[in-house]
Amino acid sequence: MKGLAHIVLTLATVLVILAPFTPSLLTITSIPAVITLLLGAFFGSLAPDIDKGKEAAIYHAELPGARGKKFPLTPVFGYALYYTCYKPLQVLFRIIFGKKIYAINGHRELPHSPIGILCISILVTGYIWLACFALSYVPYLYPLYNNYLIYVFGSAFLLGCFLHLLEDTCDNSGIHYFYPFSFSRLRGKIKGDGTDPRPKIFAVILLIAAVVLGGLSIGMAIPKQLAHPAALMVPIVLWIIFLKASGVPAKKEVWE
Ligand SMILES: [Zn+2]
Repeated sequence: MKGLAHIVLTLATVLVILAPFTPSLLTITSIPAVITLLLGAFFGSLAPDIDKGKEAAIYHAELPGARGKKFPLTPVFGYALYYTCYKPLQVLFRIIFGKKIYAINGHRELPHSPIGILCISILVTGYIWLACFALSYVPYLYPLYNNYLIYVFGSAFLLGCFLHLLEDTCDNSGIHYFYPFSFSRLRGKIKGDGTDPRPKIFAVILLIAAVVLGGLSIGMAIPKQLAHPAALMVPIVLWIIFLKASGVPAKKEVWE
């Protein structure tokens, strides 16, 4: 799937998760956490494509679909991720598992697997923690030390990466969930070139669900004890439907 589809589907899913808590998220104390969470999910939504080569959206400042609008932090983060997380992990996996860790054709290897995104997210969180630890010695920056927002970012980043894997599962290249132990992929029937309308339909459904849930929660129509189950179950049910609608599990048509 293309970078833009990943950003839209991931952020729309995160909005569905957050929507049942809308009133408590729109307070001055919650807003930094919400912004950090969205930022983490944004970078996570693009991160697995670091194995795709330099055309991947994460290496470019221009936001896909944003008509030339630039976000210079994206390539900084992309290249940092490539050299400090992906490459060292690839060397480590190569030592442990041998040559078979490389994709035979196309891309989708380590950063497109659950074990890969977990390792990368732990490393990202660790690096940010260390940077914040060093900065906490600068006068007035001491609150950075072990700040909870570091963990908000790390968890949102992992969630964004995981949603990227779900999104790629819908297309005909698929995802090897048991990499590097098994290379069989779970895949759907959507062509990864952006011509299939289904990802756009999924995004619209997610955004409608987010607006409805947000509206209900502002109108106090969601009892407090139902907010957590709604935040968990609505996206899970919607994604099961999306995977089915994408033809998962489909037979292999392309080698990638
Ligand atoms: Zn991908």
